[in-house]
Amino acid sequence: VIRTYQYRLYPRKHEKIALEAVFQSARFLYNHTLAYRRKCWSESRQHVSYKELSGMWRDWRNEQPDDNPLRVLNMTAGQQVLRRLEKTYNAFFRGGGFPRFKGRDRFNSVDYTYGDGCKVTGNRLYIQNVGDLKIKLHRPLPENGTIKMVNIKRKASGWYVNLQIELPNRRVLHNGQSLVGIDMGLSRLLTLSDGTWVDNPRWLKTSLAKLRVAQRTLARRKMGSKRRRKARHQVALLHEHVANTRRDFWHKVTTYLVNTYGGIGIEDLKLGFMLKNKHLSQSAHDAGLGLFTQLLHSKAESAGCVVLVVNPKNTSQACSGCGVTVPKALSVRVHHCPHCNLVLDRDENAARNIFHLAFKSAWTVPSGAVT
Ligand SMILES: [Zn+2]
Repeated sequence: VIRTYQYRLYPRKHEKIALEAVFQSARFLYNHTLAYRRKCWSESRQHVSYKELSGMWRDWRNEQPDDNPLRVLNMTAGQQVLRRLEKTYNAFFRGGGFPRFKGRDRFNSVDYTYGDGCKVTGNRLYIQNVGDLKIKLHRPLPENGTIKMVNIKRKASGWYVNLQIELPNRRVLHNGQSLVGIDMGLSRLLTLSDGTWVDNPRWLKTSLAKLRVAQRTLARRKMGSKRRRKARHQVALLHEHVANTRRDFWHKVTTYLVNTYGGIGIEDLKLGFMLKNKHLSQSAHDAGLGLFTQLLHSKAESAGCVVLVVNPKNTSQACSGCGVTVPKALSVRVHHCPHCNLVLDRDENAARNIFHLAFKSAWTVPSGAVT
């Protein structure tokens, strides 16, 4: 398995300037290559592959004199930039957004292959043409891991490094604990089929309120003024804070779940939640649930927990007691079955249906819900 460890960097003043120069070169390479790809397409309907571009970059870089400022970006780091552009193009071909030029504020990370222009020694990270940067190892590096990739990040609060570390696979047998189904929702984040639930944390509301105030302040500041720049920095810091605490929260929730249950049934987000709440897709809420499923999957195996994804169609309408469809609007929070007299919280009923679907209990599956 590959795990990412993030650490804070404390570059000195001249190192910061050198890092900025590396980012500047990487951004230049990205934009320049994008312009070239667009030109080839518009003039002769030709796609330029990553392989070609990578070769061009290598030749061009080798021909440059040592003092060309673009040479601060090393060969493989440049290739990573080209790979990133390739990914954006591939996403575009699959229906994503058209690749766009990156402004200074939109280019905030550079990747290195470990050992090629970068190396960790003690609490120092060497980066070619930058120096030996101080890393704060707030948790130690794993002893049996191999660093594969190094990703340098510029955030509002400072500089960071993400180390992608390969760890030996640790297979754990099924932990033998009970099975559960989980419904994801709006009013309540998660409802479990055993009746427990996870709610939106209160800090989120407070942080979002602070963010709104900061955004209003920013909107009032005069263009180009020093105070506007300060306000923008404040907004960026708050965004980062919300993202960090949200991540933290989901880490805790998923760790708890995989350690408490032996099998977890969840709904397919793409088929359920996002369809049910179209106006919300791409919202922060959505992203939160996406992060939840992603973390759950990545933690399950080593905890001996099985995660099964089911089609959530009809799971909120069907009765978990007898399988009969009981139509109800979104505003109806209680499931009341006229057939078997089951009275249950709406989301808990859905969670129980997801549970049945996931673990294929032999008895009636809600109609239309079979994947
Ligand atoms: Zn019923």
